[in-house]
Amino acid sequence: MTRYSSPVWHPFTQHMLEPVTKKIIHTEGAYLIDEDGRKILDLISSWWVITHGHRYPAVMQAIRQATEHYDQIIFADYSHEPAEQLAQELIHIAPQGLAHVFYSDSGSTSVEVGLKMALGYFHNRGEKRSKVAVMAGSYHGDTIGTMSAGERGVFNAAYGALLYDVATIPFPAEGREQQTLDVFEQLCRHGDLAALLVEPLVLGAGGMKIYPAYVLRQLKSIAEAYGVLLICDEVMTGWGRTGTLFASEQAGITPDILCLSKGITGGALPLAATLCVPKIFEAHLSTDRSRTFYHSSSYTANPIACAAGLANVQLWRNEPVLQRVHNVQAMQSRGLARFKDDPRFENIRQCGTITALDFKTQSGGYLSDIALRLKAFFRAHNVLLRPLGNVLYLMPPYCVTEQELQQGYQLIDEAATLLQCGKL
Ligand SMILES: *Cc1c(COP(=O)(O)O)cnc(C)c1O
Repeated sequence: MTRYSSPVWHPFTQHMLEPVTKKIIHTEGAYLIDEDGRKILDLISSWWVITHGHRYPAVMQAIRQATEHYDQIIFADYSHEPAEQLAQELIHIAPQGLAHVFYSDSGSTSVEVGLKMALGYFHNRGEKRSKVAVMAGSYHGDTIGTMSAGERGVFNAAYGALLYDVATIPFPAEGREQQTLDVFEQLCRHGDLAALLVEPLVLGAGGMKIYPAYVLRQLKSIAEAYGVLLICDEVMTGWGRTGTLFASEQAGITPDILCLSKGITGGALPLAATLCVPKIFEAHLSTDRSRTFYHSSSYTANPIACAAGLANVQLWRNEPVLQRVHNVQAMQSRGLARFKDDPRFENIRQCGTITALDFKTQSGGYLSDIALRLKAFFRAHNVLLRPLGNVLYLMPPYCVTEQELQQGYQLIDEAATLLQCGKL
């Protein structure tokens, strides 16, 4: 029998094995403060959503102000200023050529919307293209549709019967980039491919796997040559994580469809936006109602969330956020440097503000209980780090200090030592 007595069922949690969750009663900057008054250093930005820091003043102020005017407003037949302004701003800062913004409320829905836009585009043009290609090792969300596009494994084994087939291109590992491009081109030649869905530069939940920008650029040119749409899922990589506002910028491309969520409100409220190029919107524009884009969720374009999003975009313009990103990037490099020739680790890597390294273990994989033991160790030291199997990564909010980062790396070092002598 489980000791767990709360009715709350937590995500990605095995309640039989994992400790009862402490309640967080306050957040501030890089910290969560729990009911016992412990300050927990959040080095994974609360699952990658918090960019500037917890309860960043300008965002919280915008939320307070918006609540004086708005709650949820139906978004068909009606609009509101926060959604209109945020859309303008997103178009302005996104890679050039994206012209329309569709709102939803999570990363998963932003990807679902992107997939539906792509299939709707070909359907409305009378072209028989409905296959989707994805990159091996990807993660695009936990709905049935996005799980189908993501890597298959223990996370979705129970739901396999409901998942649709996708074509897969190999991850462009170092030295095998050309193979990825070749497989993609072969898939394109079949003529039934609607879209390639990828996480640009970094595969997040798949283990922080990094690939070079030129591969993304070439995937885009191949897609273009065969009339295949490119969907960039920047739910994790967006808002500075990779060292630029959006990762696509580093490849110098404009995706046909761009999915944004997580940091879009600085992490304060749930919101997502799927941006697309004009031809996709226009393929749905018709006096024939059957060509309508039939998608909505109740909380589409929540005005308070949009106001938080607007405050976030204004922050990027009015404060030196990119400079902070570059500082975090440099601090991260310095933190990681101590492990450069460390035989206990492999695949030491960094992309922008994200660093990752793999513990060398016999039993890898997400279910190896090394992750649980590590997590508990970090937790006991008031640091929030959640290894993905044997992959350790740091994705801090941009308010993090060098000292705080060093605390994280020091703990990783200690954990490795304890692991080695069997004490963890
Ligand atoms: C987190 C994530 C998602 C899913 O976002 P949710 O808000 O959890 O639905 C999709 N794609 C990527 C790349 C992500 O990192």
